[in-house]
Amino acid sequence: MHIYIHVPFCARRCSYCDFAIAVRREVPSASFAAALLAEWRGWQAHPAWEDSPTVETIYLGGGTPSRLDPAAVAAILAGIAAERAVSPAAETTLEANPDDVTPAAAAAWVAAGVNRVSLGVQSFDPTVLEWMHRTHTAAQVSPAVAALRSAGIDDISLDLIFALPRSLRREWSADLERALALAPEHLSLYGLTIEPRTPLARWTDRAEVRPADDEAYAGEFLLAHERMTAAGLEHYEVSNAARPGRRARHNSAYWRRAPFIGLGPAAHSGFGAGRQWNLRDWPAWQRAVESGISTVAGREDLDAGQLRLERRYLGLRTIDGLEPDDLPVGIRDAWEAAGWARTSDRTRLTPEGWLRLDALAAALP
Ligand code: SF4
Repeated sequence: MHIYIHVPFCARRCSYCDFAIAVRREVPSASFAAALLAEWRGWQAHPAWEDSPTVETIYLGGGTPSRLDPAAVAAILAGIAAERAVSPAAETTLEANPDDVTPAAAAAWVAAGVNRVSLGVQSFDPTVLEWMHRTHTAAQVSPAVAALRSAGIDDISLDLIFALPRSLRREWSADLERALALAPEHLSLYGLTIEPRTPLARWTDRAEVRPADDEAYAGEFLLAHERMTAAGLEHYEVSNAARPGRRARHNSAYWRRAPFIGLGPAAHSGFGAGRQWNLRDWPAWQRAVESGISTVAGREDLDAGQLRLERRYLGLRTIDGLEPDDLPVGIRDAWEAAGWARTSDRTRLTPEGWLRLDALAAALP
C-alpha cells in the first residue's frame, strides 16, 4: 500500500500554480494533523488492505509540507504506523521549499521518519524566482541541501521547471549545471504549462507573456536528457531522472497502478479499476472530517478499454515501456522509423518519443 498526504498550505501562490492550496501565514498544523489522522482511521476497514497489508511508501506533498510544524509531521507519521505495519524499508518523502529547510527542521523531519526530501528549486535565476512568485532565493538552495545531508537525508530530489517564456532570458543550461553540481540522487523536470485562473494565464491572455514555443520546449527537454545522462542519472520516466537504485518508489507505484490511499484535501486514491478523489478545498474537507461525513468528492470505475489505455500510457511514460506485442505492429514500426521508440525486450519511447507522449498514446486503438 502507498499513502499520499496532501498538505494544502502555502505562504503564497506561485504564478503558474493551480493546485488545491490554502494560502496561510500561520499554518494550522495541529488541527490539520488531527483531521488527517481521523480520515486515516476511516480507511482501516477498506478491503484493499487484505491484499496489500504493509505500507511501502508515504509521500507528504502539497502545497508545502515543509510549512507544517515538524511536530505535526511526526504526529502524522506516528499515527499512520499506529494503525498499520509500515515496512522498515519504507520510502517516506517530504516536499520542501528551500526557505523552510533549517538544520533544526531537517533533524526533526529525520527523527519523525522522513528519509527522502523533494526540494522545490525550480530555478537558480533570481529574476525567474521573482517572476514565479517563489518565496525562496537561489542562495537558499545550497545551504538547504547541506542541512538535509547533515541531518542524514541521503535521498534528495530537486524540482526544476523548464520551457519558460523567452522574455525571461533564463539560461536552462546554467540551471541544470547548478542543480547537478549539488549531486542530487533524483531530478524532476516539468515543462511550464499555462493553467486557467492563474496569474500566468492572465499575463498570457493580456499578451504580457508569450509562452515558450514547441521548438524551445523540445530543445530544453533534450538538453536536460543529455546533461542528466552524462552526469550518471538514468532518465527513467518522462519527467524524472535518478541515480541507480534511486528511482522514486512512491511515484513508480502510481505508474505500476499499485494501490494507493490519498489523505487530505484533493487527494486521490486508487485500487485496481476504481479511483476516487477528495473534496478539494481545505475548509470543506476539514468540515467533512470533523462532522464525520465522507470526504469523497467523486468516484469512477475504468472499463476494460480505459484500463488498457491507461496501462499503455503509464508504460510508455517510463523506460520500462511495454511488451512489444502490446502495440499494433504498424504503429510500432512507424514509431521506430520516426525515432520515437526502440524495441529490444520491450518497446520503449526515446526522449524524442516522450516529447510526443500524449499524441502517441492518443493514437493507440
Ligand atoms: S509552493 Fe508549490 S503548491 Fe504552493 S503555490 Fe507554489 S507551486 Fe503551488
